[in-house]
Amino acid sequence: MHGLMQDWRLVVPKVLDHAARNHGEREMVTRSIEGPIRRTTLAELHSRSRRVAKALVNMGVKSGDRVATMAWNTDRHMETWYGVMGCGAVCHTVNPRLFPEQLVYIMNHAEDCVLFVDTTFVPVIEGIQDKIPTVKTIIVMTDEANMPNTSLTNAVVYEEWIKGADDDFAWADVDENDAAGLCYTSGTTGNPKGVLYSHRSNVLHGLVANQADVIGLSAQDAVLPVVPMFHANAWALTFAAPMAGAKLVMPGAKMDGESIFELLDTEKVSSTAAVPTVWLMLLQYLEANNKELPYLNKVVIGGSACPQVMIEKFENNYGVEVIHAWGMTEMSPMGTLCTLKPGMEEFSAEQRIKQKLKQGRAPFSVEIKITDDDDKELPHDGEAFGHLLVRGPAVVKEYFKGEGGDPLDADDWFDTGDVATIDELGYMQITDRAKDVIKSGGEWISSIDLENAAVGHPQVQEAAVIGIVHPKWDERPLLIVVKAEGEDPSKEEILRFLEDKIAKWWMPDDVVFTDEIPHTATGKIQKLALREQFKDYKLPTA
Ligand code: AMP
Repeated sequence: MHGLMQDWRLVVPKVLDHAARNHGEREMVTRSIEGPIRRTTLAELHSRSRRVAKALVNMGVKSGDRVATMAWNTDRHMETWYGVMGCGAVCHTVNPRLFPEQLVYIMNHAEDCVLFVDTTFVPVIEGIQDKIPTVKTIIVMTDEANMPNTSLTNAVVYEEWIKGADDDFAWADVDENDAAGLCYTSGTTGNPKGVLYSHRSNVLHGLVANQADVIGLSAQDAVLPVVPMFHANAWALTFAAPMAGAKLVMPGAKMDGESIFELLDTEKVSSTAAVPTVWLMLLQYLEANNKELPYLNKVVIGGSACPQVMIEKFENNYGVEVIHAWGMTEMSPMGTLCTLKPGMEEFSAEQRIKQKLKQGRAPFSVEIKITDDDDKELPHDGEAFGHLLVRGPAVVKEYFKGEGGDPLDADDWFDTGDVATIDELGYMQITDRAKDVIKSGGEWISSIDLENAAVGHPQVQEAAVIGIVHPKWDERPLLIVVKAEGEDPSKEEILRFLEDKIAKWWMPDDVVFTDEIPHTATGKIQKLALREQFKDYKLPTA
C-alpha cells in the first residue's frame, strides 16, 4: 500500500524559493574579485538566479546540458549555481587549480557548452580556448568597467548579459533524480572522474548538513564558506545556508589570514569551514597580530587530517569549537563529523583531544563500515583497521559516462580508498589513504598520525611522511619538514620531540628539510609527487 502524502519533489530551486519567501531580507556579503565588499540579499539572489536561468534558456541551453563555472565563492557564482540548476542544466564546477591539461580533459569530457569564468582565470582560458571546442560562449563574471582585455573570441560581460533577461521565469520542471551538478575528483591517479549530483542528493545533503550534530546552521548564523564551491558543493553550505536563512559571507579570491580574519570579524561570522592549510594561515595571522575571534563559534575542518595543535589553538586560545570532518567528492562530500556524545564532556583534556582527532561519526543518511582484504567486516573496537566503505543517498552510484566501471560492490557499498578504524561509539578515524599507508615488516604505519605529531613541534610549519623502500622492512617512514618561518630545528630535535607521541617502531628513519611540500588542487599533500621526488632516496638505516 502506498502512503498518501504529497510527491513534493526534492529539487534545488525549491531551496532558493524557500530562502526568498522566508528569509528574503537576509544578507549575502561578498568580497568581490574587483576588490570592494558587495552586499545583496537572499531575495536578490533568488531574483538574479532566475535571470541567469532565463538568459541561459534564451541562449539555447537545454535540460541536461553542462554549464561550467570556474570561479571563486561570490554572489555571482551563487546566482550562476542556482540559475544553471534552476533551468534544468548541470552546473559543472571546475577547479581552477587543476593543470591546463586536466582542465582541457574535464571540460571536453563534460562537453561543457557555456563557461562562466572569473576575471582571475581569463588568462588560463585564453591559453586553452582552442582545445575546448564544445564551449560556445564564455561569460566573464564582471561588469563592463572591470572587463579585462582578452583574446577570447566569444567572451560576454556577465552584468551586460544578465541585463537581457528579467526574473519572470518558472524554474524548469525537473525530476528530483535529474542531474544538477558535476564535480570531478582531483585525479591524483589517472584522469579525474566526474561525480554527477542529482537534485535529490543535493537537497538531502543540505538537509543533513543542518542536523544539529553536523554543521547545524540556523537563521541566527552568519556562515563563511572558505571551502570553495568547486570543492564538492562547498561542503553543502551552498544549500544548507539558504535552507536555514543564514547570512552568507563569500570570501572571493582572498584566502590569506588577514582577509579571512577581516570577514570573520566585521561580518560577525559564527560558522565557517575549510581545509587545514587555510586555518594554518589564519592562526599565524591571529598570533602575529594579537587578534581574537569573539563571534566565531564553530569551525569545520576537513579535506585532510586536522592536526592536534590546530584543534587545541582554536578551542583553548580562541574559544572556537572545532568540528573535524571527513568526506569526499563522491559523497557530496560530507561523510562523518566529530561532534561529541554525552559523557564526553567529563573527559580529561587528553581523552577529549584524542576523541576530537577522530574524523567522527556518520550522520543519518551515511552508512560506514570497515572490511579486511577478504571483504570481511571488521569490529568497531577502535583498533582493527581496514578499507572504509560507505553507502547513502548522496553517495556516487556510478561516475559520469561510466568511467572506471562499476564502483559499487554487490550490496552497493562504495570503497572510499581510505583505511580507517571505527570505535565502539561509532567514531571513525582515518589511518591513511590505502596507497599512502607505510608497510613496515608486515605492519602498517599511518603517515597521517606521524604528520600530525610532527606539526605539533613549534618550529615545524608543515610535515609529510612517505614510505621509502627498505631492504629489511619493505618500507620505512621518511619525514619531510617545512620549517616554521625564522626557525631552524635540527633532525635530532624533531625526532626527540616525537619520542613520547608515537610507537617506537613508527619513528621515521630520517628527516629531510624542504622549502615547500606540493599540494593537490584541493589542498592535500601530494604524496604521489613526493614519492616521485624521493624515489632514489637512500635511508641511513638501509
Ligand atoms: P576529495 O574528494 O578531494 O575531497 O578527497 C577526499 C579524500 O580526502 C578522502 O578520501 C580522504 O582520503 C581525504 N580526507 C578528507 N577529509 C579528511 C580528514 N578529515 N582526514 C584525513 N583525510 C581526509
